[in-house]
Amino acid sequence: MIANTRVVLVRPHYAGNVGSVARVMKNFGLNQLTLVSPYADPLSDEARRMSTHGENLLTNAKIVDTFEEAVADCQLVFATSANVEGLYRGSHYGRPDEVLPVFVDSLQTGPSALVFGPEPHGLANAEIAQCHGLIRIITDHEYSSLNLSMAVGICLYELRRQFAQRTANYQTPPSRQIANYASQEEMFRHLRHGLEAIHYVWGTKADLLFHGIRQLIARSNPTPVEVRMLHGLARQMEWVAAQLPPKADDQPSGGE
Ligand code: SAH
Repeated sequence: MIANTRVVLVRPHYAGNVGSVARVMKNFGLNQLTLVSPYADPLSDEARRMSTHGENLLTNAKIVDTFEEAVADCQLVFATSANVEGLYRGSHYGRPDEVLPVFVDSLQTGPSALVFGPEPHGLANAEIAQCHGLIRIITDHEYSSLNLSMAVGICLYELRRQFAQRTANYQTPPSRQIANYASQEEMFRHLRHGLEAIHYVWGTKADLLFHGIRQLIARSNPTPVEVRMLHGLARQMEWVAAQLPPKADDQPSGGE
């Protein structure tokens, strides 16, 4: 069901953009709009004017304080950005047509989210690292950053195109259930704790190393049963670490 797609706008600044996003969502058959700590008022005249027939999306928009609240019940959570430089972004991004097939699959079993950043600076590294993947729309390198609502429009066009193709030759069995965002987060926290306990995630590179492990697991779209299995792994590491004699912090770690 395409309506299982949630569009999350993180700290949007301009009401006109929020209105345009509502409109283009309506064009593509979507109705779940969530705003995280918006500066723009979705009920302002400017937002309503730009939304035209999408006005009901503005009135029903969910406003939350944190990114985690916006996506807690989602299966897949994909960020978007023009900027794919650096270690947190460069390793795992793709074009909408490359990244969206797995997203379209997930819509059969529940909500999944596309996350868009604030107009001035986009999403922060920490926010991108919290997502399961990153979408970059190809643009000219001289000026790569699109207007927010245009970026939403391009992603939704590709989503709708793939969805239509999928339903036209629908033969595949229903896809497996992916564990929701909140339960994956809980598992990642537990796993990190276990990996720290055995000094695998350790020292100055700890965050980056865990980012790599997190992306690896997230790419496999774990089911609730697999998430439970990873909790078991974390518990076992904690248990083994508790049996070992204390280790001095300056000893080399196995973290690479
Ligand atoms: N200078 C910021 C501009 C943000 S534009 C940046 O480069 O990220 C607002 C939002 O639109 C971005 O946070 C992102 O969600 C989306 N966006 C803009 N250009 C994009 C592109 N080329 N590919 C993917 N998303 C894009």
